[in-house]
Amino acid sequence: MSSAEMHRPMGADLRRSVRPYGFRALLLQIPAILRGLMISLGQFLRPPVTAQYPEAPPPVSPRFRGEHRLTRDDQGHMKCVACFMCATACPAECIHIEAQQAPEAWEGRDKIPAVFEIDMLRCIYCGFCVEACPKAAIEMTNRTPIVHDNRKDFIYDMQKLLNN
Ligand code: SF4
Ligand code: SF4
Repeated sequence: MSSAEMHRPMGADLRRSVRPYGFRALLLQIPAILRGLMISLGQFLRPPVTAQYPEAPPPVSPRFRGEHRLTRDDQGHMKCVACFMCATACPAECIHIEAQQAPEAWEGRDKIPAVFEIDMLRCIYCGFCVEACPKAAIEMTNRTPIVHDNRKDFIYDMQKLLNN
């Protein structure tokens, strides 16, 4: 390196390497800018696809595993016989059942649940409980899980499950 180069101020090199953004370079960007504007305009004119959840839940597949329901027989009695098969099969251990003697008028069963609760915060919607049930007493609906603002409301009791 010559002594003249050694004493040249660093700013001079920097100015030489950074060229001003020329008008020609700006012209080259115009097609991309126009293309971007066309995409924005196309999106602006399309109907909105925003789901108004939870007021209007979006449609789901018929095979969707949503909230559970306890089913009833022809007489309107719950089919559940408190056999605990669903609670035993549940990998999340979120089903709590307490059994009691069935009313005499309810033929064909010894027991019914006094308490039947599902902790929906722990449920992983696997459907094992439905598969394990020998009485088709529990099924999964198409209802998407509802949003609550406290943990207590996520414990679905027997009445809620029967009405679901
Ligand atoms: S869907 Fe699965 S995790 Fe949920 S209650 Fe049934 S067995 Fe348990
Ligand atoms: S829902 Fe079915 S598996 Fe569960 S306790 Fe009732 S009868 Fe048994």
